[in-house]
Amino acid sequence: MTARPFHPPVWWSATFEFDRSEELVEAARAATRRFETGAPAEPIYTRWDNPTVRAVEEAVAALENGEDALAFASGMAAISTTLLAFLRQGDHVLALSTLYGGTVELLADVLPRWGIRVTFADPDELTPDLLRETRPQVVYVESPTNPTLRVLPLRRIAEAAHQVGALAVIDNTFATPVLQQPLMFGFDLVVHSATKALGGHHDVMGGFVVGLRHWLRPIWDLRKLLGGVMDPMVAFMVHRGLKTLSLRVFHQCETALQVARFLADHPRVRQVFYPGLPSHPDHAIAQEQMGAFGTMVSFAYEGDMVATQALIDRLSVFHRAASLGGVDSLVTQPVTTSHLHVDDTIRRRLGIGPNLVRLSIGVEPAEVLIADLRQALEAP
Ligand SMILES: *Cc1c(COP(=O)(O)O)cnc(C)c1O
Repeated sequence: MTARPFHPPVWWSATFEFDRSEELVEAARAATRRFETGAPAEPIYTRWDNPTVRAVEEAVAALENGEDALAFASGMAAISTTLLAFLRQGDHVLALSTLYGGTVELLADVLPRWGIRVTFADPDELTPDLLRETRPQVVYVESPTNPTLRVLPLRRIAEAAHQVGALAVIDNTFATPVLQQPLMFGFDLVVHSATKALGGHHDVMGGFVVGLRHWLRPIWDLRKLLGGVMDPMVAFMVHRGLKTLSLRVFHQCETALQVARFLADHPRVRQVFYPGLPSHPDHAIAQEQMGAFGTMVSFAYEGDMVATQALIDRLSVFHRAASLGGVDSLVTQPVTTSHLHVDDTIRRRLGIGPNLVRLSIGVEPAEVLIADLRQALEAP
């Protein structure tokens, strides 16, 4: 009779020892062979692979309907390692203009240093025609977008990318695999910031990339060299977070819809950005593509920059903190946080004014969050 740990324990060991040197050589061969065969390999060194990290990688791969996954120290480590694994000097990236700020900086300021060209396109510009014109090696998007929550037609974008031979990559952090599985729409690779909903408790940082083993192999090779692998303790905590992911996300989506409806009816709110409202430009595609409409709600307040900050400061349940997707509700003003360094003309084009407020809805009761928003909006 043998019992085994119900939950994968933390293998907090930097290295692993073998009885005979041949076994170590064989383990090293198996570590790379697993990308061809899928057969499990013995761990050798934690920067390569670690059993606790492998366990959470397999769990995230299953959630995304992917063949396998790789875990990273942060979302940015996953994104930068993935892009660097596929791009060469002279290559071209076609990227959505409304990506996460760190990704935009990486694409706009860092990759060009190595002779990689990047074209940014707004949600409505990202058409098959533009793909045929630009002939990129990589197409990189997010959906829903930050902070106005535009929803892109994912199947059409993946098809258009493949028609020009481009690799289709999507950051699925905002939607989570509970609401949408982009590999099912034809995307080649899905990246995540596990710091957000996957971890879910605002305590650990992590990232993932999910897809076919064939695409993961070059990313694994580079992860070993750049070293941005996930820590085993973090892997344990993210794995624990995954167990309640769908419970949390569906509950948060339901609350988000109620908050969005409350805001849409409020006289001091000019506009609400939530794909679950019929007034949202992408409501139909969101309905078709997503299991629910997401945990983020943005709105334009009637006041200016200073009045909007005062509104945010009157909130007492929402925390003024930059992050999203977790159990606690957070509030930010995009012009002073995620879009601080974005050019004002670009911000205006994307509909991000000083009066825009972004809410990340947590697991608190809807009526508590609505009461907090009401008192903040209606203060004299
Ligand atoms: C937070 C975030 C990232 C970056 O992830 P980190 O874990 O902070 O490195 C990337 N993409 C999106 C959409 C994010 O929200």
